[in-house]
Amino acid sequence: MNKAVFVIVGAGQAGAVAAAELRRNGFNGRVVLIGDEPHAPYERPPLSKELLLHPETARCQLFPDDFYAEHNIEVRLGTRVTAIDPAARHVSLNNGETLPFDRLLLATGATVRRLPLLDQLGEDIYTLRTLDDARVLQSVIKRGRRIVLVGGGVVGLELASSAIDLGAHVTIVEQAPMVMGRCSPAILNEYLCKVHSERGAVLHIGTAVTHACRDNGEIALTLADGTRVTGDAIVYGIGVEPDTSLASAAGLEVDNGILVDERARTSHPAIYAAGDAAKQWDPHTGHYRRLETWENANRQAVAAAKSMMDIDADKVGAPWFWTDQCGLNIQFAGDMTGAQWIVRGTMGEPGFMLLGVCDDRLVAAVMVNRPRDMRSARMLIDKQVRLAPESWRDSQQSLRSLLNGG
Ligand code: ADP
Repeated sequence: MNKAVFVIVGAGQAGAVAAAELRRNGFNGRVVLIGDEPHAPYERPPLSKELLLHPETARCQLFPDDFYAEHNIEVRLGTRVTAIDPAARHVSLNNGETLPFDRLLLATGATVRRLPLLDQLGEDIYTLRTLDDARVLQSVIKRGRRIVLVGGGVVGLELASSAIDLGAHVTIVEQAPMVMGRCSPAILNEYLCKVHSERGAVLHIGTAVTHACRDNGEIALTLADGTRVTGDAIVYGIGVEPDTSLASAAGLEVDNGILVDERARTSHPAIYAAGDAAKQWDPHTGHYRRLETWENANRQAVAAAKSMMDIDADKVGAPWFWTDQCGLNIQFAGDMTGAQWIVRGTMGEPGFMLLGVCDDRLVAAVMVNRPRDMRSARMLIDKQVRLAPESWRDSQQSLRSLLNGG
């Protein structure tokens, strides 16, 4: 495949990691990485935290500046792919150029879900997805300002934590009955709410915004329960939508994500997809699922790069992600739905863990300030270790020892 051209659309985490992985595996054709943002590929986790808290020193760039040249990866920044012609095997760029490909990876990511009710207010309404968004927020979230966060998901809660650290007044409005409901078990809700309110955030949970207006220089929201919330600026984080427009227009199979198999292959034999935009077949559940995590972007990028080179992919482990908020590192692994939760340690005291057990097997785990135990938990999930309920409950036994049957 010496002269082959592999084109990657999307220069985010998945796209850049895939480019690196192609080289790591010895691919010596052309690698072209195309991204519409002006910045070199960066990681998103620091955007809601370090970038706001330590703007002078925080770094989020994925690879050093000279990495791409050193690895002969052609990076086209500020460039948008406008169409894919799968039959002719080329992509069209917004500068009028046409680029042929032998294999194509779509790592187009996701964009923030819009809330027109708030957007119509124009100024002082913000979202956070990109590095540019984070840089704008650096000048919005300031000491003494009243910041209303609409959406109590990962972005909302991490921003709440950073905003309090920065001395802002924080109100969180979440329409669902719990915070972080997309990815966290209900059993954690009370604890998370308590941690945030103890640091001074005001929480309105289980109530939607029904009306929004500008009133005497401030923004006033009316909630479904009748509460009136006012603030100087609103940042909303109500989830993202996978960017599937190119894939759909090219006739690929799409269903709230670009459908891919276990090896990141789309419905077209020369086209692959990875990261937030991809919805991957999960043989364990018999469903497609789309994950919006750092780890998933990496893992799928590696799988896609190998697949593009006709190398077998590694076995997929339980999904894993983390959040840092209020001085806590909280890590999650496995499937948060359908498990019976066992608390190890004391709920509410940092250093506790939650084990999600189903049919005597560990299917999910949440670690609060216990990052080291996560490795064992993930192995227990992946190895489908079956143990009596007492063993899962017994906090005297380390998870590591359970790997050997207790
Ligand atoms: P993000 O990555 O943007 O944080 P999540 O899916 O983790 O996305 O969280 C989004 C949160 O926003 C969810 O908890 C969801 O219930 C909440 N949400 C969605 N729409 C609204 C809305 N109109 N008002 C308030 N909260 C909302």
